[in-house]
Amino acid sequence: MTGGQPGLPVRDDLKDLHPYGAPQLDVPVRLNNNENPYPPSERLRKAVGEAVAAVAGTLNRYPDRDAVDLRKDLADYLGHGLTAAQVWAANGSNEIIQQLLQAFGGPGRSALGFEPSYSMHPLISLVTGTGWIAGSRDRDYGMSTAAGQVRALAPDVVFITSPNNPTGTAVPLAVVEEVYQAAPAMVIVDEAYAEFARPGTPSALTLLPGRPRLVVTRTMSKAFAMAGARVGYLAASADVTDVLLSVRLPYHLSAVTQAVARTALAHAAEPLASVATLRAERDSLVAWLRGHGLSVAGSDANFVLFGVFGDRDAVWQGLLDRGVLIRNTGPAGWLRVTVGTAEETAAFRAALAQVLGLGTGGAR
Ligand SMILES: *Cc1c(COP(=O)(O)O)cnc(C)c1O
Repeated sequence: MTGGQPGLPVRDDLKDLHPYGAPQLDVPVRLNNNENPYPPSERLRKAVGEAVAAVAGTLNRYPDRDAVDLRKDLADYLGHGLTAAQVWAANGSNEIIQQLLQAFGGPGRSALGFEPSYSMHPLISLVTGTGWIAGSRDRDYGMSTAAGQVRALAPDVVFITSPNNPTGTAVPLAVVEEVYQAAPAMVIVDEAYAEFARPGTPSALTLLPGRPRLVVTRTMSKAFAMAGARVGYLAASADVTDVLLSVRLPYHLSAVTQAVARTALAHAAEPLASVATLRAERDSLVAWLRGHGLSVAGSDANFVLFGVFGDRDAVWQGLLDRGVLIRNTGPAGWLRVTVGTAEETAAFRAALAQVLGLGTGGAR
């Protein structure tokens, strides 16, 4: 589609760009997008329907441009003494990241991330004209050299994904602090998977006081089981949200989105109850994979990175042929599988055992 499109005067720096590529295939077991596999409960569905019906009669009007009520609800959900003025919301955390790069990146500026990490950070950097610097991680995906890289390269924006996608690794707060001290400008901690972290993994939200250049991004797409509603948000100093008010498109967050998000937050206990189930399922999946001699990165998220395969494409295709879609991503030879329901994860194990010719009597 892009890249080769003849004749169109596309920006030079976008000529080789391809659309975000996760295939959306209609197969029985979809474990490729790190979604929460549990759909909203009957009760939540009903409440969402009522909330949407209530705003339907006002759709001739623009929504609250500043989404004040939603930001208040999000601040209450986050805790840590945060206020609505320190919270900002948008259509997914991807839009949050785009707004941050529009404000703090852009032409002549650079953003640094520690790879392997979330592929949208470099992509949104490129689209906003921000130079991307691919930093590196330790062999075990740790970040012991992160602050040194930041000091040497002095980027305008630093991304720390914790827990990291696709490795699942959480980053110790000491590293975030060190990076913040080394960074001349903004530090963004992408905590899309924070709710799935193992107990004792603190959030970078605790570091916000006294650090005006620190931003923590979150999403309702993962633990909250609301990927279809497109709601992401951030917490930072009120000065950061003030800046974002000037780059966001007016009325960027629809009245329907705001109503759905507020309803989901009012029922937060329901989707969040699935988090404990998914964590337990994750830990048993990690044990099963290791029990079969595979390498597995320690995971604080709702997915597991495993390998190492000489031909990972063949393994990915073999699973797909058996109705199980996972993600062909990460370092060479590795694959990423999202933790699904017990039934979906069992289907994945059975399919993988067939593809790899593993004994199925192994540890569960
Ligand atoms: C899934 C994911 C997001 C979420 O994006 P949304 O736009 O909120 O759906 C953000 N960051 C990371 C690292 C992710 O894996």
